[in-house]
Amino acid sequence: MKLICIGRNYTEHIEELNNERPSEPVVFLKPDTAILLKKQPFFIPDFSNDVHHEVEILVKINKVGKHISKKFANKYYDEIGLGIDFTARDLQATLKEKGLPWEKAKGFDGAAVIGDWLPKSEFTDVNHIQFSLKKNETTVQNGNTSHMLYKIDEIIEYVSKYFTLKIGDIIFTGTPSGVGKVNPNDILTGFIEDKRLFSITVK
Ligand code: ZN
Repeated sequence: MKLICIGRNYTEHIEELNNERPSEPVVFLKPDTAILLKKQPFFIPDFSNDVHHEVEILVKINKVGKHISKKFANKYYDEIGLGIDFTARDLQATLKEKGLPWEKAKGFDGAAVIGDWLPKSEFTDVNHIQFSLKKNETTVQNGNTSHMLYKIDEIIEYVSKYFTLKIGDIIFTGTPSGVGKVNPNDILTGFIEDKRLFSITVK
């Protein structure tokens, strides 16, 4: 399975990192070895002094497809989740500066948190899902999928032009503003509306 990630999908997050607004979705992949195993702590890797949390809505693909049109994209997923795209921001900045791929900054072991899944049928509108991340007792990120530049179905249309989507593939749909550094002993808790979908300890 693969993890397909979308970057720069929320205006306020683009602004907080002084990035350019993309004219089409920014896409990158994480290997399956990036998945943080259930109930395991997240270990800050020794090659970074600035690992950031990025909370994101996840979509799990349930049907094989290629060249999926936006109109039919909703038939390719029936579960919605929440996760973290951990990013070694210092390493990413160096790579970006040199025009190199981001994989080392985004695809390292443990860099993909995948929380519990909710049936899509629980949502009246997937383009109106409120989600948030708490760091210890403080809510640090608060988003709503209505603010995505590229909506879930548009993302599926776009990425399936390049990659065949397979059952079990997971799409990370981008982070809202509020990204920030994690430190040892932080506890990160993710919510969709009032449901807690993961809780991770940082080491
Ligand atoms: Zn991200």
